[in-house]
Amino acid sequence: MARPVALPQVVRTRADLRDALAEARRPVGLVTTMGALHEGHASLIRMAHADNATVLVTIFVNPRQFNERSDFEAYPRDEAADVRVCGAAGATMVFIPPVEEVYPDGFQTSVRVGALTEPLEGASRPGHFEGVTTVVAILLTLAGAERAYFGQKDAQQLLVIRRMAADLGISTDIVACPIVREPDGLALSSRNVRLTPQQRAAAPVLRRALSAARARYDAGDRDAEILRATMQVTLAAEPLAAPEYVSCADPATLRELDRLTGPALLSMAVRFGAVRLIDNEPLS
Ligand code: AMP
Repeated sequence: MARPVALPQVVRTRADLRDALAEARRPVGLVTTMGALHEGHASLIRMAHADNATVLVTIFVNPRQFNERSDFEAYPRDEAADVRVCGAAGATMVFIPPVEEVYPDGFQTSVRVGALTEPLEGASRPGHFEGVTTVVAILLTLAGAERAYFGQKDAQQLLVIRRMAADLGISTDIVACPIVREPDGLALSSRNVRLTPQQRAAAPVLRRALSAARARYDAGDRDAEILRATMQVTLAAEPLAAPEYVSCADPATLRELDRLTGPALLSMAVRFGAVRLIDNEPLS
């Protein structure tokens, strides 16, 4: 029989979070999520648990980072299941605020990071990163954690958050965590449950496209246009996949590369009907 898991403390207001943190053992590790938790999130929580005496998970579907109201509304939500995942992975407390606790009455502050937010996800999703950096700045400030854990799955988001934390003098150490994948290579995402069975069967094409480009890189190819074309060709063979962008960029600036003379980041966004998936692969 499965061992019962201690459920973490659930707090919903800024004031209750402050009280809970005042009594918490240090160091504190923070994992910010939008819920619909899966093994990718659990891996972040486990990493936080390994490094810290207290693990705080936040669950907040942030309306400011969605471009389409329909995507926000369709975003999967299951609080009871999420709290169980948090407990099983080692979370001590879970902050599940209503919108007005994150954005109190009269809220009028925004955090915008510059050039790093312009290409790739920023170009496809206007305003997205401003929504992300605004909410993450609030959550980092409320948590006052020693460390915060973010997935490499959202590579641009990780870079943008690092930049923001450095620029604002937020002393929380930003820790990158590896991408967790299904056995067939599809990166875990809360949006995967919205794929039809046919789309789900086609979705590993993202990983195959990245692997095809990596194979050329491993074989010595350093022409970024060839690596981008390799990804495009693989994606084009899958009729259900509609690519939004493929990129081979400088991993520090996210500017598209011409020739690779150092590390690079391969990345892509691909639509399957209404569901938009992203994936990436660092080359070094
Ligand atoms: P989200 O709930 O999608 O906002 O994601 C919350 C955190 O989990 C972010 O730091 C993501 O990068 C991370 N994450 C989501 N999916 C994965 C995955 N498949 N592997 C690793 N981290 C992930």
